[in-house]
Amino acid sequence: MQKSTISQIPYIDLKSQHASLKSELLSAIGGVIDDAYFILGEQVAEFEGKFAQLCGVDYAIGVNSGTDALIFALKALGIRSGDEVITAPNSFVASATCIRVLGAKPVFVDVGDDYNIDPSKIPAAITPKTKAIIPVHLTGRPCNMEAIVGIAQENGIAVVEDAAQAILAEYQGKPVGSWGTVGCFSLHPLKNLGTCGDGGMIVTNDAELSEKLKVMRNIGLRTRDDCVMWSHNSRLDTLQAAILLVKLRYLQQWTQQRRANADYYQTHLAGIPQIQIPPEREGEKCVYHTFVIQVERREELRQFLSNRGIGTAIHYPVPIHLSTAGKELGYAEGSFPVTEQQSRRILSLPIYPGLTVDQLEQVCENIKSFYQT
Ligand SMILES: *Cc1c(COP(=O)(O)O)cnc(C)c1O
Repeated sequence: MQKSTISQIPYIDLKSQHASLKSELLSAIGGVIDDAYFILGEQVAEFEGKFAQLCGVDYAIGVNSGTDALIFALKALGIRSGDEVITAPNSFVASATCIRVLGAKPVFVDVGDDYNIDPSKIPAAITPKTKAIIPVHLTGRPCNMEAIVGIAQENGIAVVEDAAQAILAEYQGKPVGSWGTVGCFSLHPLKNLGTCGDGGMIVTNDAELSEKLKVMRNIGLRTRDDCVMWSHNSRLDTLQAAILLVKLRYLQQWTQQRRANADYYQTHLAGIPQIQIPPEREGEKCVYHTFVIQVERREELRQFLSNRGIGTAIHYPVPIHLSTAGKELGYAEGSFPVTEQQSRRILSLPIYPGLTVDQLEQVCENIKSFYQT
């Protein structure tokens, strides 16, 4: 079948998502301006309540970003200089930033074929200094939380889930964010539930931790006049919360579309020997923040697709331990062979809700034709 070779399929399309919601968003924004309750207005509490419900937990606390969510979570658990925290080296850098900015040491554990931390390799990384594990649900695929929580309990250490990419993902029917001591989410515009600016959420079932986190995000103020600790100012804006309440109505539908798009790719890219795609395994509900395949001749394929108007991305080309900032951690090329090999082969395909079947077909046909030539 001969399709037009001139297509325009961007890697991501935020403009059309917002265009379709514009009147609803403007009305929500207008409401906040009329009330002029810009800091910790009622929309923040309403969004926190709905978000907690979505994650199947008792408490949700809105903060300024996913990075701050991770930093506060670790800080509230008492992580500090001299401690070690285990995470994966193939994540977005913030998964390690949150550890290091508290003076603690990120200890990396290599990942498996599914891009998530390999639980079988965690025990060997645990020392008397280990205080927490940060499993990252990368690409929107849940980590094996049963194994990870089991290891953490045996060793008396906390689990802080980095669920920045994974809102609504589930492991064995239980939402991510509800498995660990604390769960952290990002509301960055590019995430599955993204706002029109920065934002993040922390979720937990621990009432005491929740109270502490609310004080921590609010400059240490328990009440207007009672400062109980030195802390940052990192609150989710009322404006962002109002925007998120609009977008929340569409999240299930968007997630379904991401899953349907992934299903299309799984079916139509199967059987190409130069491509590997991790399957969705028993017990996993993936929400496909990204759809990451592993390919041969990646740079050539990327250029080929780009020439045909198809955008792709790489999440992430440089593993954290090999980044400029990460060099001080003492790892080197070869420290994490699976992560490093994947970093040279991974390619993220367009997966955003709103892609048409015709567009998905064009992506698949072009990939096939690349490997046939
Ligand atoms: C986006 C992201 C973060 C950081 O979230 P921000 O809101 O951008 O600060 C942390 N971890 C992972 C895995 C992410 O994808």
